[in-house]
Amino acid sequence: MSQRVGNISDRVLARTASAALRGAACTGMRREWDNGEIDVEAARTRQEAWSAAADLLAVCHGCDVVARCLLWAELERYTGVAGGQVLANGKPRRAPVAANRRLGADRELAASA
Ligand code: SF4
Repeated sequence: MSQRVGNISDRVLARTASAALRGAACTGMRREWDNGEIDVEAARTRQEAWSAAADLLAVCHGCDVVARCLLWAELERYTGVAGGQVLANGKPRRAPVAANRRLGADRELAASA
């Protein structure tokens, strides 16, 4: 069922956001992405899920379209790794403290490169 976000239907926004994903850092990584998401899905704890997602999240954090990707993922209620987040039905899953520290270090590294 379509909902409205402001004056625009969420389906129109999702189409617009996904159309803008050209230049995605994960282009050509379908197999790695699927395998990574299977590992995330199989994780029994939040810590395991974020550990399994670490390689994919590192790709996201170097991606030029991360904000648009996250908008698309939220609107599509995506479950998996997208937009620099581990998502369940389009909602970011909270990262364990250790993962937050590691991602912060990744961002500092990317910013200094
Ligand atoms: S943010 Fe991540 S999932 Fe989204 S397009 Fe970029 S690399 Fe791919």
